[in-house]
Amino acid sequence: MPRVKVIGAGLAGSEAAYQLAKAGLGVDLYEMKGKKRHEAFKTDLFAELLCSNSLRSNDVNNAVGLLKEEMRHLDSLIMHCADETKVEAGSALAVDRDLFAKMVTETILKEPNITFHNAEVEDLDIDEYTIIAAGPLCEGGLSAKIQSLFKEEYLHFYDAIAPIIYLDSIDLDIAYFKSRYDKGGADYLNCPMDQAEFFAFYQEVLKANQATLHEFEKGDLFEGCMPFEEMAKRGYKTLLFGPMKPVGLEKDGKRPYAVVQLRQDDRAKTLFNIVGFQTHLKYDDQKRIIQMIPGLQKARFARYGVMHRNTYLNSPKILDEHFASRLYPKLYFAGQIAGVEGYVESAASGLYAALSLIIKLRGLDLKLNDDCMMGSMAAYISDQHIKHFVPMNANFGIYNGPRDKSLRATHSLAKIDEFKRSCPWMNI
Ligand SMILES: Cc1cc2nc3c(=O)[nH]c(=O)nc-3n(C[C@H](O)[C@H](O)[C@H](O)COP(=O)(O)OP(=O)(O)OC[C@H]3O[C@@H](n4cnc5c(N)ncnc54)[C@H](O)[C@@H]3O)c2cc1C
Repeated sequence: MPRVKVIGAGLAGSEAAYQLAKAGLGVDLYEMKGKKRHEAFKTDLFAELLCSNSLRSNDVNNAVGLLKEEMRHLDSLIMHCADETKVEAGSALAVDRDLFAKMVTETILKEPNITFHNAEVEDLDIDEYTIIAAGPLCEGGLSAKIQSLFKEEYLHFYDAIAPIIYLDSIDLDIAYFKSRYDKGGADYLNCPMDQAEFFAFYQEVLKANQATLHEFEKGDLFEGCMPFEEMAKRGYKTLLFGPMKPVGLEKDGKRPYAVVQLRQDDRAKTLFNIVGFQTHLKYDDQKRIIQMIPGLQKARFARYGVMHRNTYLNSPKILDEHFASRLYPKLYFAGQIAGVEGYVESAASGLYAALSLIIKLRGLDLKLNDDCMMGSMAAYISDQHIKHFVPMNANFGIYNGPRDKSLRATHSLAKIDEFKRSCPWMNI
């Protein structure tokens, strides 16, 4: 069997390398953070979570919850490490980001079939089996090489990171613990606002200065990760129906006019991120405006919000449903660069790209159909009928399994188990 090169030890690359190695393939895993690190990353660890520490819903009746369970059925490394390092987050799966990334890194480095290269890859050999999982911040020689190979423009959009606040700087006489509608534990910290407070806050947000974007960073915003100041510009009520929605967060039987929620970010419970408050405001404005929120008047920032370019392929033109290039069949793409959106989706695409490559190398005729969440994502990113492609989170809009909601999880997981039984290396 040939060796496989994996570029990038993020969520997708780590999962892919692990799956290939478990199938007995020799893997050369390249990660450049030890030598050259994009400013959005803070550590040299693999599978670093860039922004939120939440992997979103853990409920199988929710699309991303189902995707997680499908991954667990396929022995996903990322899901295993996430489950082992989870922190309280109601019905969501949130992790201690450092413990999580350390566990992924240690597992990969211990894997005898994986040779780790602390290096940047700047070129591609179309005759070498390769999974490119270089993520949404891919740039430099590799990015130029991909562009030259496909003669297709990359697409760009923008993600913004929410600020993280130290718990001991939050006024707990004002902020209170509660989950929306008391679902799950009382895991979120809530900062309530009355109408006058919200109005003053809103006015300041409209006046605040945004950080200057580089020329190459200007472009369309992705709706799912819209900075809160952009939401505010859309109208007085947009935040009230978005991240500052007060419903289900009553205190002493009374509903505040607006609520800012914070979610635990580390297992030690010292850091909380502001939910839905991705931002690209300048740091001094960011501090001044966040400190207008009741309970956060003395907030200390462990990390300010920032905004970054996000790069992905025009996948339906470039990739097939196995995440392989139509033009260069030995090249596979996985993760955000392949046109999926989100941490879990990136890891899932790494898992499926690796399994697809193993299947090809073993000469098997096997794939997942779009009646499970993972197969639906593969079908979506390779659907040549799509004219204006945008990356998507897992959702039931692209899913072709049972319409009856109550049957979806059982049906999809049965399909995944059937697929797994057909993969001989997974059943040893
Ligand atoms: C700023 C930002 C915030 C985000 N926030 C969230 C969020 O809160 N929730 C969410 O679900 N999703 C979020 N996303 C989207 C997405 O889920 C993450 O980007 C996710 O990390 C993508 O996983 P990945 O494996 O594709 O890429 P990454 O996790 O970025 O991993 C790619 C790896 O490849 C390495 N690499 C790149 N080029 C090379 C090269 N030439 N040679 C060697 N190594 C290389 C990088 O150093 C990196 O470690 C965010 C994205 C961005 C950009």
